[in-house]
Amino acid sequence: MSQRAEPATELSLRGSGLTSPRSRERLIERLQLMGIANKRVLEAVRQVPRHLFVDEAFAGRAYEDTALPIGLGQTISQPYMVARMSEAILQAGTPQRVLEIGTGSGYQTSVLAHLCGRVYSLERIGSLLEQARERFKRLDIHNVSLRHADGAQGWSAHAPYDAIVVTAAPDNIPPRLLEQLAEGGRMVIPVGAQGSAQHLLMIRREQGVLTEQVLEDVAFVPLIRGALA
Ligand code: SAH
Repeated sequence: MSQRAEPATELSLRGSGLTSPRSRERLIERLQLMGIANKRVLEAVRQVPRHLFVDEAFAGRAYEDTALPIGLGQTISQPYMVARMSEAILQAGTPQRVLEIGTGSGYQTSVLAHLCGRVYSLERIGSLLEQARERFKRLDIHNVSLRHADGAQGWSAHAPYDAIVVTAAPDNIPPRLLEQLAEGGRMVIPVGAQGSAQHLLMIRREQGVLTEQVLEDVAFVPLIRGALA
């Protein structure tokens, strides 16, 4: 197979070699083997060019099912986890308003933007947020609103949310997030102290009552209080 070299400074949208559509297809097959069945979720993962969300040095590994560094001690989420969390919030139909905590690279945000009405995403590290903003522009993603703030406070101006997706792990569920979950809404959140077991929880609000279900054991970076410059 002939492979065209990527330009050194700018990776192409379509990708080639290790970032080619074929590499993406293998990732989709793997997600299916791991139990992801929702066709819309699989299509969204197929559509979003993950190689544009990682540092160039890691672009060749973008379609491996693994978390990768994005700088400042943070990581882009593992594709399986992005798919799993997206699938969990889609179980009750298409959420119109979604709150995401931890924009990071913007990868999970982009997948959610393909699946939901509008995504409101909060990030505490300003430079990551600005890089994500550039990516959304390049990819013509317009149904995302971004804010540089401590996500533990939520974003009350647009509440309540049909779904809340948290991509960094607090020790306990922040109460402000529970307050901003709509009736019939779903929240997926990894909870647990660093260094000890973390569980991915699904919280539902039905007729005013909150229920909690453990989806699986996970390992996320910590949710840190307060916004950085
Ligand atoms: N979903 C992202 C994953 C990013 S890792 C992706 O696919 O790239 C988790 C992110 O949560 C980091 O960028 C980290 O800075 C951010 N974060 C941690 N604590 C936060 C807080 N209190 N408020 C907002 N963002 C936070």
